[in-house]
Amino acid sequence: MQSLWNAADAAAMVAHYTGRGVSEDLALRVYSSRLLGSDPRLVQHGGGNTSVKTREPDATGTDVPVLRVKGSGWDLGDIEPAGLPALRMEALLALTPVAHMSDAAMVNALRGAMLDASAPNPSVETLLHAWVPAKVIDHTHANAVLAVTDLPDGEARAQELFAADLVICPYVMPGYGLAHQVRAAAAARPEAIGAILLKHGIFTWGADAREAYERMIAMVTRAEAMIDRGARVVVSRPAPARDPLAVLPELRGALSRGADGAVRRMVMNLREGADLLEGLEHPDLSRVWSQNPVTPDHVLRTKPTPLILPPDEADIAGAVARFRADYAAYFARNAPRSADPLTMLDPSPRVVLAPGAGLIGVAARAGEAAITADVAQTNLAVRADAERMGPYEGLPEADIFDVEYWSLEQAKLGKAKPPRLAGHVVAVTGGASGIGAATAKAFAAEGAEVCVLDRDEAGASAVARAVKGHAVACDVTDAASVAAAFAAIVRRLGGLDILVSNAGAAFQGRIGAVDEAVLRESFELNFFAHQRVAKAATAIFLRQGIGGVLLFNASKQALNPGPDFGPYGLPKAALLALMRQYAVDHGKDDVRSNAVNADRIRSGLLTDEMIAERSRARGLSEADYMGGNLLGAEVRAEDVAQAFVTLALAERTTGAILTVDGGTVAAAVR
Ligand code: ZN
Repeated sequence: MQSLWNAADAAAMVAHYTGRGVSEDLALRVYSSRLLGSDPRLVQHGGGNTSVKTREPDATGTDVPVLRVKGSGWDLGDIEPAGLPALRMEALLALTPVAHMSDAAMVNALRGAMLDASAPNPSVETLLHAWVPAKVIDHTHANAVLAVTDLPDGEARAQELFAADLVICPYVMPGYGLAHQVRAAAAARPEAIGAILLKHGIFTWGADAREAYERMIAMVTRAEAMIDRGARVVVSRPAPARDPLAVLPELRGALSRGADGAVRRMVMNLREGADLLEGLEHPDLSRVWSQNPVTPDHVLRTKPTPLILPPDEADIAGAVARFRADYAAYFARNAPRSADPLTMLDPSPRVVLAPGAGLIGVAARAGEAAITADVAQTNLAVRADAERMGPYEGLPEADIFDVEYWSLEQAKLGKAKPPRLAGHVVAVTGGASGIGAATAKAFAAEGAEVCVLDRDEAGASAVARAVKGHAVACDVTDAASVAAAFAAIVRRLGGLDILVSNAGAAFQGRIGAVDEAVLRESFELNFFAHQRVAKAATAIFLRQGIGGVLLFNASKQALNPGPDFGPYGLPKAALLALMRQYAVDHGKDDVRSNAVNADRIRSGLLTDEMIAERSRARGLSEADYMGGNLLGAEVRAEDVAQAFVTLALAERTTGAILTVDGGTVAAAVR
């Protein structure tokens, strides 16, 4: 591993921040924190922590010694000075004589020591940073160090590699006890430049940011050299390839339906690729993965163990049920040791390994599922490296349980209310503009994972970026394009819950004279394309077995035909019949089917030019045409979008039409 320290970059960052009133100490602390955070072999997703001891003015303007230490919610890779809250050293050192302290008492004491009461909570390892006297301290869960220490002879290997320079500390849970352990070990060996925490990670320290950082790189490089001397595990019998699409919807359904029958939808993040699949073909996969994670805080993302789905596993729901029973037994074995009553977490797996198909991260949100998959991939890499030296050995069950059921984590339970459509995957056709774009935005605001489908790929990407969703190229009039789009949705998120079939276009012509080709073209887009996407969505709903929602964009023309608008109104009338047919045929599958009857929405479909034409056909001014309803107000795309959301949430409504037209008696449903 190479040092990335660059004197010019460091000087530029010092110049940048000192110009904004930040001290040089803190600016360099930010610089080397980002260097550590830029390499996922050292630090991932909020892992690791760093500190610097410096002086800053207190409320009276007097310079006092402070510890700047990483705050929670920040990633080292893009940390700012505000991500390193300042705590009064005097207050932190005053705690040293206290032998034991609860987590809650420690967090309270740390908050009381902060210079800025509104800053984020400082790291749970703050006291360790304060009590080791070095000016700059770095802490990582470096992959190579974990591979060397997560072995039955990990301590002997750590002694061999590091004892000349670092103190070697047996595993204790992060927090108050660990701070005392490392403080005492460092005090006994003042020449040490860091510490190895067995089955947890590594600390290095120094007189300045560069020294601490380069010591980290040197120590991790030593561990890498030891791994390189080990023999690679050879895969003798590769697992047969399996299409992930054949696994994901069933798996998603099984994971989303709880043992009590209640549905809590989860999304998935699939990782594929030759290297990864080879890692999943370890000859002794279940032994390696029956062991706990490579470092304790991973358990909060991955649970102690993954669900392994062998290629011949046909009963996915049964495999999920067995996993949950095993997890409940693990909870029952360990919970009685706790002084406080504990609440069991969701017993479903967060990582699924499917040899031949891939590795799958599972979470309530897409972003979380991706982080879980990253952490699982790190576990795969570290375990593969450890196996080059001996059998991989994670932490004992009791230790991993204590981290998973840590009092500070338990205290967070039930506090955050998830948004109404969290975990729901929504596909919106014609999502690049008008009603489709407004609908994508409205579902995203409810916490859904939104897929923006459109044949205008650039437009779909722009909307997807704006709603933190997913752009999917799709021409709804092309069967192959629709099949590819729905496969892409399953690959990206694991399945689908709500389809908003919105894509359409207006066709005009007097019915007694119109060319049959115009009528057929309109039917192709305004009827058959709706059936094509609804059928593709329903196929996914049925494989998941947790119901689904079909929402169609109908039109007032379906109920109240306008002059010269037959080519548009006829397929839309058929679309209402299609909506009801889905309600009739798939109600028993818990699939709801509804339509929104919207009228006169200014969009790509009803352009300014068409508004002029339609108002002329009705003998009205443009303003009277657009606001020609009982409310006397133009109906906006956002109003239609809200109607789709309302229908998605209406759990006992199917076969219904919701009118969004400002009130038009002639178009009323009867
Ligand atoms: Zn740590």
